[in-house]
Amino acid sequence: MTKRAVVIGAGLGGLATAARLARTGWRVTVCEAGDSFGGKMNRWAPDGFHFDTGPSLITMPWVFRETFEAAGGRLEDYAELVRLDPIAQYRFDDGTEFDYTSRLPEWHATLGRLNSLDVEGFHRFMALGGKLFELSSATFFRRSPFERPRLSELRAITGVPLRHAWGNYQRMVESFFRDRRLRQLFGRYPTYVGSSPYQAPSTLAVIPYIEFSLGGYAVRGGLYRIVEGLADLARAAGAELRACARVTRIVTSRGSVSHVELSGGERIDCDVAVMNGDAATLDELLGRNRNEAGENSAAPPDRSMSGVVFLFGLNRRLRGIQPHTVMFSADYRREFSQIFEHSHFPEDPTVYVNAPSVADRSLAPEGGETLFVMANAPASHTVWDAKKICEARSRILARLRRSGFPAFEGAITVSDVWTPNRLANRYLAPGGAIYGGNSHGWKNAFLRPANRSRKADGLYLVGGSSHPGGGTPTVLMSAAITTRLIERRFGN
Ligand SMILES: Cc1cc2nc3c(=O)[nH]c(=O)nc-3n(C[C@H](O)[C@H](O)[C@H](O)COP(=O)(O)OP(=O)(O)OC[C@H]3O[C@@H](n4cnc5c(N)ncnc54)[C@H](O)[C@@H]3O)c2cc1C
Repeated sequence: MTKRAVVIGAGLGGLATAARLARTGWRVTVCEAGDSFGGKMNRWAPDGFHFDTGPSLITMPWVFRETFEAAGGRLEDYAELVRLDPIAQYRFDDGTEFDYTSRLPEWHATLGRLNSLDVEGFHRFMALGGKLFELSSATFFRRSPFERPRLSELRAITGVPLRHAWGNYQRMVESFFRDRRLRQLFGRYPTYVGSSPYQAPSTLAVIPYIEFSLGGYAVRGGLYRIVEGLADLARAAGAELRACARVTRIVTSRGSVSHVELSGGERIDCDVAVMNGDAATLDELLGRNRNEAGENSAAPPDRSMSGVVFLFGLNRRLRGIQPHTVMFSADYRREFSQIFEHSHFPEDPTVYVNAPSVADRSLAPEGGETLFVMANAPASHTVWDAKKICEARSRILARLRRSGFPAFEGAITVSDVWTPNRLANRYLAPGGAIYGGNSHGWKNAFLRPANRSRKADGLYLVGGSSHPGGGTPTVLMSAAITTRLIERRFGN
């Protein structure tokens, strides 16, 4: 008899799992609480502008290709990936600015200008990242925690020096670089998984390696094309995708999943429930007290960062900017201390501006520009009222001015803002945390909620808040792992 799966959430991981399962003969229903698909990888398209409201840079394109193939299509038929060069322009508080390019002769020249001794440190840093990448590819990226590793994988682990695998991220960066600006630049990477460089493990050196050596990519026409492609393939394979369908209960019977209930009272029977929403909300769906929870509880201090995002559509073009610009705060340590220790939006935030229309004119109306302006913020339940939003906006704009970013306020014709509250409400992500739990310390980083839950037979997790973690390619790896575990348990 055909087995039936309900996927709770149409985020990237949910869509990929749905498409994979449907292709192998499962009857799949995706229930999405919101009114659009894609979860945090979403879009807003007013008046001829196209904004990706979430991700703006992807890595590991082969993971996207593999996912599309497993879903029965070809990535190229849906989305054209464009390698970024430079990856970003960096601007520092002391007035230094440079392009971060993966073209070695140019990048060597930049490193040499900053501190010639750091050229060698950069290569050692990348060599470490490369080793960690090999190790992760064989283990962490492919398997759920608690699956028994193979002998070859255990051997690979012994190839990485322990102090580099489990030490502190920022201390590791400082052991490779002397220059203050390079320490800040390479310190930034744990924020890709919503974490602080001062608390994350050095293993995250894999992230800058992946971006520099294997490339950072944009998608022509916007990253949402990937969501549209996966949704199409999932439907073509027979999956039913339902918006405005919030799951309020996962019901079990004699230790196995039996059905889910939707907010309107509807019941859908299933053999498997795959939770793509935040793992921290799973116990609530199971009708359990969250405090009793073991594997999935996420106390507020363990949440990854949230963010404040302003989307600005401009009626004129901005000259002299790159599609990706990062403008660093004067005091990085203070910024993360304000976020994680004091749970405050930083006084002087580091600001990331993505202006995709600089390279892709299809994303803005004639003569206009599309800006995505983001700063990190603590995940919290604090209410973001108009006063708090205006305060954040003026701090962000002050940083842009100090960093010499061209003024654009008079040219704004459409705008929108995403706050931690809005992220929390729209994506049912407690505190608005973008990546589920943070990656502080090796346990948080590597023992994320497993893809197969022990709480009930037939209960699985997929997405950024579960193993192997947040960020678009990792979420797609999560979908591959979860599907494999389901197939192994139930056959196909
Ligand atoms: C502002 C921002 C910038 C980002 N930048 C990048 C970037 O540049 N590069 C990158 O790789 N990643 C980036 N990310 C992270 C990336 O978007 C996420 O890691 C990834 O998209 C998460 O996918 P997911 O499968 O975990 O699902 P999510 O996107 O978390 O979606 C889960 C879905 O489940 C739904 N849901 C939850 N509970 C229920 C329920 N009970 N019933 C029904 N539906 C439910 C939610 O509504 C949501 O739509 C960014 C994210 C944000 C917000």
